Amino acid sequence: MKHCIEPTDLNKGELLELIELAEDMIASPSKYQEVCKGKQLATLFYEPSTRTRLSFTSAMLALGGSVLGFSDAQTSSVSKGETVADTVRVISEYADIIAMRHYKEGAALVASQYGSIPVINAGDGSHSHPTQTLTDLLTIHRELGRLNKLTIGLCGDLKYGRTVHSLIKAMSSFQEIHFVLISSDELQLPKYMLEELEKSEQITVSLASRIEDVIGELDVLYMTRVQRERFANLDDYERCKNDFILDSKLLNLASKDMIVLHPLPRVNEITADIDNDPRAAYFRQAGNGKFIRMALIYTLLQKADSQSLSPNVPRLAPNLIPYTESCPNPVCITASESLQALAIEGERGYRCAYCESKL
Ligand SMILES: [Zn+2]
Repeated sequence: MKHCIEPTDLNKGELLELIELAEDMIASPSKYQEVCKGKQLATLFYEPSTRTRLSFTSAMLALGGSVLGFSDAQTSSVSKGETVADTVRVISEYADIIAMRHYKEGAALVASQYGSIPVINAGDGSHSHPTQTLTDLLTIHRELGRLNKLTIGLCGDLKYGRTVHSLIKAMSSFQEIHFVLISSDELQLPKYMLEELEKSEQITVSLASRIEDVIGELDVLYMTRVQRERFANLDDYERCKNDFILDSKLLNLASKDMIVLHPLPRVNEITADIDNDPRAAYFRQAGNGKFIRMALIYTLLQKADSQSLSPNVPRLAPNLIPYTESCPNPVCITASESLQALAIEGERGYRCAYCESKL
């Protein structure tokens, strides 16, 4: 692992090492307070996300490093139309590691191909947000002491919710995982993901349309926000938004050891009357985000010291296949910057290497 672009960039061993390191950082923070002294993190945020940026900043400061960057591309020189490839080549000359958030899907992958320092994807459009997934895994491990033998309810927007998609992918490395997909028909998991899950040997899956029918059997209930911008019709949004609300009455039906997670911010899907219940783990989850980012930054910087990234750019991973047709996704980074189209081969044909759209 030289970069962290997608949750699947880490194999199971690397995931467990990272979680163990984060837990050691929580237990003995003073041991790590100068390990990144003299190192600089560049936070390149092409779209504002104060919460994620502050979490990266606070992680780097806790390691003794420093932080530079921009929080909104509109106010920085990148709004003059510089490509991601050029920006990271320049930044690589003076920073040691990059955390990038971009509204184009695949932007972080491009950054990792052209820069000469490690890149962490801090969210690329609705495609991937690996540090959220790592935060979720650390939280489950800290709260329940295991990442195997779990029944996990995923509730709300399973169609567009990237945190849910990434969590499913990451959990497929572990054993005896059962997912209960709690959603309405229109917000259910995309069909291709459902089919992949049904074929998996590690994972079993069932569907539910009401929280009360299944909450009693869950170890983890992962709530998500239904986002208004996903709906063309406002009436549909209003209806879906109120379909799945967790309140104290429902929580009474859950086991005393179940935990409630939410990537935050919430709108109305978790009522405030359960915030003080010990099972409400979502604020602790947000705190864990800082520690897993500390572990990730430290690990990537150590690896970068021991292996220099080749100056040949773009630097392509061996599984990426040059492709003749361009990607059909209008928010793919290849739609706005001139880049070689690349594909990954899956069971169901070729997908764009940048945004995973079907080619
Ligand atoms: Zn694409």
